[in-house]
Amino acid sequence: MLCSNLSETLGNDLDEVFPETYLTAMAIREILEVPDPRLKQVSTPVETFDDELKALIADLFETMYDAPGIGLAAIQVGVPLRALVIDLQPDDPDAEPELCEAHGGHAHYHQPVKREPRVFINPEILDPSEDLNIYSEGCLSVPEIYAEVERPARIRARWQDEDGKTHEEVMDGLMATALQHEMDHLEGILFIDHLSRLKRQMALKKLEKLRKAA
Ligand SMILES: [Zn+2]
Ligand SMILES: [Zn+2]
Repeated sequence: MLCSNLSETLGNDLDEVFPETYLTAMAIREILEVPDPRLKQVSTPVETFDDELKALIADLFETMYDAPGIGLAAIQVGVPLRALVIDLQPDDPDAEPELCEAHGGHAHYHQPVKREPRVFINPEILDPSEDLNIYSEGCLSVPEIYAEVERPARIRARWQDEDGKTHEEVMDGLMATALQHEMDHLEGILFIDHLSRLKRQMALKKLEKLRKAA
C-alpha cells in the first residue's frame, strides 16, 4: 500500500462521493505531528452539516491519500471537530498487478488497491467486545513509529454522515481498530498513549532521532 501511487486515482473515486464543486477547492492540509499541543485537544461535536463541513471532509481525504494513510481525524489538520475519515484501501483482487515504480531495487509488482472512503461525524462506540485484537498501529501524527496496541475486537458504532444522517454498524478486524484509533484523536489521545511509559518514551526518542537524521 505504501508504495502505490494513491493520489493518481483520487479524483475519480471522490467524484462519486462529493459533487465537483468541492473537488475544485480541495487541498492537502498540513498534518500536525507530536508534540504539537493541538493534538491533545478534545474535539467538539459537529452541529452544522454545511458546505464547509463537506469541504473539510474532502480535504481530509486528499490529505490522507497523499500522506498516504488509512485514517485521519480533523484535529490532525488542526480542526477540533468530531469528524474523521477512514479508507482501509484493501487490495483489489480484480485488478491486474502493477509494476512498482516507487521503489528501487529489483522490478516487482503490487496489487492495486480499492478505494472505500468512509466518513464518520460525531462517532460513538457502543457495546465494545471483551475480547481484544492486537494490531501494529501507526499514525500520520507520529510518523515512522509503529507499535502494537490492544483494543476491543468488535464494536457497534453509531455516527452521522456528511448530511447529518445517522448510521449504525457492527465492525471488527482492522476497521474496528482504525475507528477506535481515529476516535481517540477526538479525545486528544494518540496510540502511543496506550503504551507503557517506557515504550512511549522509546518511541518518541526514535522519532526525535529520525527527525534529526532527516
Ligand atoms: Zn514497491
Ligand atoms: Zn492517528
